[in-house]
Amino acid sequence: MQNTSDFKARTVDFKPGERNVFLHLLTQCNLACRHCYINPAQHGTNILPKETALDWLRLLARPERESNLILLGGEPTLHPDLAEIIQAAKTLRYAVTVDSNGFLFHDFLERLRPDELDFLSFSLDGPDAAVNDPIRGEGVFQVCTENLRKAVALGFRTSLICTVSALNIDHLHRMPALLAELGVRRFFIQVIGLRGKSAAADSLQVEPERWLATVPETARQAARLGIHVTYPKVFLQPEEAFSCAGLTADNYFIFPNGRVYRCPLCEDYPIHSLCIENSQLLRRNGLNEDRFFKLRIPEGCVMSKLLHSGNIDDSTDGGQPRRISCCMLKQEMLPLAAR
Ligand code: SF4
Ligand code: SF4
Repeated sequence: MQNTSDFKARTVDFKPGERNVFLHLLTQCNLACRHCYINPAQHGTNILPKETALDWLRLLARPERESNLILLGGEPTLHPDLAEIIQAAKTLRYAVTVDSNGFLFHDFLERLRPDELDFLSFSLDGPDAAVNDPIRGEGVFQVCTENLRKAVALGFRTSLICTVSALNIDHLHRMPALLAELGVRRFFIQVIGLRGKSAAADSLQVEPERWLATVPETARQAARLGIHVTYPKVFLQPEEAFSCAGLTADNYFIFPNGRVYRCPLCEDYPIHSLCIENSQLLRRNGLNEDRFFKLRIPEGCVMSKLLHSGNIDDSTDGGQPRRISCCMLKQEMLPLAAR
C-alpha cells in the first residue's frame, strides 16, 4: 500500500464471499464503438424479456451475501423495462449499477429515483469530442456529458468508464479534470480488451511501457481531485502472487441467450462453464473455460497467453516472461479526503 498526504493506493484482491453478477439484458446498441466487445454471433440478438430477467435475478440472488449486479448491454437503457428490473433487483438486495453509453433511452432519469440505483456509470473515451468521437461516434461526447450533468444534478451517484487504447492514451491525463468538473465520484480505467472488435484490431492495443507510464499517474491525479479510481493491475511484480478469479471469485457474466461465463476473456468462444436453462443454473461438461483456470503457466493468466501473447512475450524483465494478472485484479486509488 502506498500512502501520500492526499490519496492511498492498494491492490483490490478478490473478496471472499463477494458476488458480482454482470447481466447483459440485450446485445443491441445505438453506437458502433471501434473497440466494441459485444459479439452477437456468440450471444444472440434477443432482448431478455422482463419476466426472464427477474427469474434469473432470483436464481442468482444471495441476499445474505454482498452481491453486486451490473446491468449491461449493448446499451441497457434500450431495454423498455430497465427501471422495473432495477427496482426488483433492489428488493432482492443487490447493489445495482447500470453501465450506459450515456444516451439514457426511455426517459431513464425520470423513471427512477436516485436512491433506487447505487451507481449510474457512463462510458466516455476521451476528454473532449476530438478524442472521444472518432472512437465512439459523432456527437457522442456532447450527448453523454449533457446526460451525465443531468444525472448529477438530479442526485444520481455517477461513475465513468474510460477504455484506454492506442487511440486515446496520450489524452488520458486530461480526464481527471473533466470528471471533477462533471461531479463524477468514481473513475474506472479499463484496458482495451481482447474480445469482439478489439481482438481483431492489433493497432488499438497499448504497449506495457506506455500503460505503466501513464495510467497509475493519471489515477493519482484523479485521486488528488477527490475521485475514487479503479484500474486493472495488468502486470504483476515479481513478489506478487498470481490468482485466477475463475477459481477464487464468484463472478457471473450472463448473456441473453443463457450463456454464463466465469471469465470475461472467454466470451468470444462457446466455452462457457455454466448456462441457464429452465430457470436452473447448470454446469456444462466438456472442454470449457473452467479447464483453463487450473493450468499453471509462468506467464500468469492462461487466457491472456492464448489470446494475446504479444503482451507477454516482449519481456524486458531479464528474459523472464512478463506475468499478466487476472483481468479482474484491480488497483485502487482512494482519495483520503471525502468528497
Ligand atoms: S456503447 Fe458499448 S455496446 Fe455499444 S457499441 Fe460501444 S462498446 Fe459496444
Ligand atoms: S482473466 Fe485469466 S486469470 Fe482471470 S479468470 Fe480469466 S483465465 Fe483466470
